Amino acid sequence: MLAKYGGTPVRTKAWVPTFISSEEFDEKEKEYLLNVLQKKRVFRFYSKGLDDSESVKLEKLYGERTNSRYALAVNAGTSALVSALVGAGIGPGDEVIVPGYTFIATAAAVLIARAVPVIVEIDDTLTMDPAAFEAAITPHTKAVIPVHMRGIPCQMDEIMRIARKYHLLVIEDVAQANGGSYKGTALGGIGDAGCFSFQQYKVVTSGEGGMMVTNNPSIHARASIYHDCAMRFWGVDNPGSVDSFPGENYRMSEIQAALGLAQSSRIDEVINKLRKAKRSIVEALRSIEGIQLQRVPDPEGDVSYKLAFYLPDNETASTFSELLVAEGIPNGTIHNNGFADRHIYANWDYILAKRGASGTDTPWTCSSYKGNVHYSKDMCPETLKLLGRAISISLHQNMTEEDCWDAVEAIRKVAGHM
Ligand SMILES: *Cc1c(COP(=O)(O)O)cnc(C)c1O
Repeated sequence: MLAKYGGTPVRTKAWVPTFISSEEFDEKEKEYLLNVLQKKRVFRFYSKGLDDSESVKLEKLYGERTNSRYALAVNAGTSALVSALVGAGIGPGDEVIVPGYTFIATAAAVLIARAVPVIVEIDDTLTMDPAAFEAAITPHTKAVIPVHMRGIPCQMDEIMRIARKYHLLVIEDVAQANGGSYKGTALGGIGDAGCFSFQQYKVVTSGEGGMMVTNNPSIHARASIYHDCAMRFWGVDNPGSVDSFPGENYRMSEIQAALGLAQSSRIDEVINKLRKAKRSIVEALRSIEGIQLQRVPDPEGDVSYKLAFYLPDNETASTFSELLVAEGIPNGTIHNNGFADRHIYANWDYILAKRGASGTDTPWTCSSYKGNVHYSKDMCPETLKLLGRAISISLHQNMTEEDCWDAVEAIRKVAGHM
């Protein structure tokens, strides 16, 4: 009998921990952090020992991992996106295409760069639909931001082909997919720039932090200038020969960098464990009738911390989700999250309302903008339909075979009663 109606739940133990990143904290983090304190050097551009900077080490690591010539450490993933956009010369008058399913920061970054986000549909990969991307291109479009949501690589072949055809820049949002790859290439190293986040919810954390990688010297130079309003004065040769202009302060601290380094040193090990767990669950689920697994563009490159599958409709998904919770497997749908999920465009209040910090001049109303973008809560019906039918379960690097088996058995049990 189903647990919801008095039967014995498949699982009675707690499900996996919330965080992947901080669950790994150990001696290495302590050692790296203490080393920074002992050096008494927490500011990366402090002139004594510029080359002994933890931030520089972290940049080198991400440059190498993504096969990029340049990397810029910043204080958040949002800052990485804004720096990449400004670095790429995107600004007032420009449109940037983003998917309707991503953290609100992706679209907010476009607005902070003073450009206009254009929201498009996702498909059954729960990432940007390449056809929707192509259909949304206007004479004002300058760039596209594919977002590797929940660790799933986007359909980068199709997206790159369309972008090149229309001479658009591609800025990968890798905030949720650090360590993932697409057909053998590290995510972040495929487009013109890649942006990482090291916030605690991500695969690797530095408390707060981010990283932009690129092979384009001009994007790197301009992003460096934007990430520090005094960049020219630190005696670092980063900005090269590009003209300076006002920036913000998105600098990474040496404390963040040290934490990020310790965490990043074991990222592949963590992902291998995640992949092993997800593969074994997915294999077992293939034989279960009534559920449709999320399409993953390159399963080998999936970071693998989320398992998602679809039910035929919203109602069935809601019921399935509830029954699965009762069996001891917590899971999420857009119906039971209990809050307005800011990963779904329909909840991006200030964007749908075209509201800026200033009432008088926003990216939508400024005189440089000649386009006419429309937003509404139901503008991406496919996205809402797919998310409405989807159930997602969090996986963890410390899952045992028993944990994987419990998930499969609970899903099988519930599916058998639908
Ligand atoms: C977390 C996240 C960001 C922003 O990162 P912060 O470090 O929180 O600024 C951007 N895009 C996506 C898809 C994210 O999940």
